[in-house]
Amino acid sequence: MAGVKLVNVSKYFGDVAAVKDFSLDIADKEFLVLVGPSGCGKSTTLRLVAGLEELESGDIYIGDTLVNDLPPKNRDIAMVFQNYALYPHMNVYGNMAFGLQLRHVPKPEIDRRVKEAAATLDIVDLLKRRPGELSGGQRQRVALGRAIVREPKVFLMDEPLSNLDAKLRVQMRAELIKLHARLRTTVIYVTHDQIEAMTMGTRIVVMKDGLIQQVAAPNELYENPANLFVAGFIGSPPMNSFSGRLSLEGDRARLTGDGMVVEFPRRLFKDLSAHQGRTVFGGIRPEHVRLDPAFVDTHPGARLDATVVVTEPMGSEVFVHLKVGTHALTAKAPGDFRAEIGRALPAAVEVERIHLFDGETQLALPAA
Ligand code: ATP
Repeated sequence: MAGVKLVNVSKYFGDVAAVKDFSLDIADKEFLVLVGPSGCGKSTTLRLVAGLEELESGDIYIGDTLVNDLPPKNRDIAMVFQNYALYPHMNVYGNMAFGLQLRHVPKPEIDRRVKEAAATLDIVDLLKRRPGELSGGQRQRVALGRAIVREPKVFLMDEPLSNLDAKLRVQMRAELIKLHARLRTTVIYVTHDQIEAMTMGTRIVVMKDGLIQQVAAPNELYENPANLFVAGFIGSPPMNSFSGRLSLEGDRARLTGDGMVVEFPRRLFKDLSAHQGRTVFGGIRPEHVRLDPAFVDTHPGARLDATVVVTEPMGSEVFVHLKVGTHALTAKAPGDFRAEIGRALPAAVEVERIHLFDGETQLALPAA
């Protein structure tokens, strides 16, 4: 087992900067998730750690070893990909044992490892079957088993669940969390799915255009997004954002833009005076846009005159898409909430939960 350290790592493909000046210390036994939109450089970062791409600049350490010039097979890592091609002519046992046989691991040791991994993954009964006789989830478990038997210092996983159907994904997600708790090995996991990132990561790296946007534990990322991009990327439905002009009056602050006014206590933020009169982005999570009359009626200062655009019942809750002035706003309401499309509906914002972002840099304005 080992930690992984990347120091000022960059990688270009021609003019495309796939990864820019990436520095990160990944602790031993950590489950680190790299997340971001398509093309943001997550897979390239993982492939650099694996040694499947050549570094442009920077250093990568696995444990205390500088691995810049080590070939993949000497890095003591195991990879699990989205396309986990198993050998169709070998049974499950053969698929899991094959890599060890190539490394001339003694037969009894191979047998011990395969049986142990099979027990961990609950596939003991499948050892004699061929991949063609397995379900997608079972095949994915065999691919994991093939990585586990290597007993690597670090697991590198690139969207390993994206070929599975929605139900199986959720199930395998939970199984991977349990597996990590049991194996206690460092995992670097790539996904574009923010729910996977939030549920699995001990820490999450949000990337965009080859650059790290924020590194934080899931809750921290959700509660204190470092910039407008992270605020919009993490959370489902995403955080509502709107731009407005900031004005300050005594202990109150007010954000005014295109038919929407939100007033909040100035003390929520460190120092807003530099932003007085300037454009600022406001951000408010859907669960902090309230529609229940008990809240709306008792918070007249936070009231918004909204119109219902569409409702999305999710079972336990309803996503209510609203229009306030020219702004689109989403609220989360309890599962039994009903409203007619086009109806005027008073809403109110939990103003204590507002986020602010600089109008130009889009960086979060520090909370007090
Ligand atoms: P996805 O979720 O779509 O897999 P990603 O975040 O993993 O995306 P990367 O695959 O790391 O993104 O790609 C980062 C950037 O580098 C993209 O702009 C991509 O087009 C480019 N890129 C990746 N591999 C190569 C390559 N072999 N040759 C040229 N450009 C590449």
